[in-house]
Amino acid sequence: MFLKRVEIIGFKSFAERIGIDFVPGVTAIVGPNGSGKSNITDAIRWVLGEQSAKSLRGAKMEDVIFAGSDSRKPLNYAEVTLILDNTNGLFPLDYTEISVSRRVFRSGESNYLLNGQQCRLKDINDVFMDSGLGKEAFSIISQGRVDEILNSRPEDRRSIFDEAAGVLKYKTRKRKAEHK
Ligand code: ATP
Ligand code: MG
Repeated sequence: MFLKRVEIIGFKSFAERIGIDFVPGVTAIVGPNGSGKSNITDAIRWVLGEQSAKSLRGAKMEDVIFAGSDSRKPLNYAEVTLILDNTNGLFPLDYTEISVSRRVFRSGESNYLLNGQQCRLKDINDVFMDSGLGKEAFSIISQGRVDEILNSRPEDRRSIFDEAAGVLKYKTRKRKAEHK
């Protein structure tokens, strides 16, 4: 699995549409404090379905929309798209490239797209669960998270290993089936 490109418009500090292309190997994003580095990882977690405004360092979901600056008016919506390589078929979709988008408007209206088709959050979760890229996955380790993992209860730590080992999907389905 390989994240090829991230496109952001109107998300947090990114008023202009930006595209970041990743190449194989290690990519480091550097910049002064407050320049938007963490906003990029927030954008990636958000498009993968993050529902907690607090975990995105805001008070309400609307806070992810560009709020304006001295020289620019606030925007009305935010949109983030990830483009992933799927030539090895890790994601259970019949495409060699997958795009996932999420959009939210100030009115509260929001939607998700998989390869350009509107879908539910559940569809996104199903595609990414056990790929290592879900919003709860180990692929994004934010500031303070290492300490949190080390200090967490064994049961909580276990779920990180379940996701890494690819069994979380089955546990989640079993739990849902039992509650039907
Ligand atoms: P550090 O090196 O301190 O970790 P960073 O590069 O990770 O910094 P971020 O936390 O990504 O910086 O960016 C913070 C900036 O994003 C702040 O200047 C904040 O005002 C801006 N920001 C956050 N939300 C919005 C928004 N909705 N509209 C406009 N700007 C925003
Ligand atoms: Mg930061």
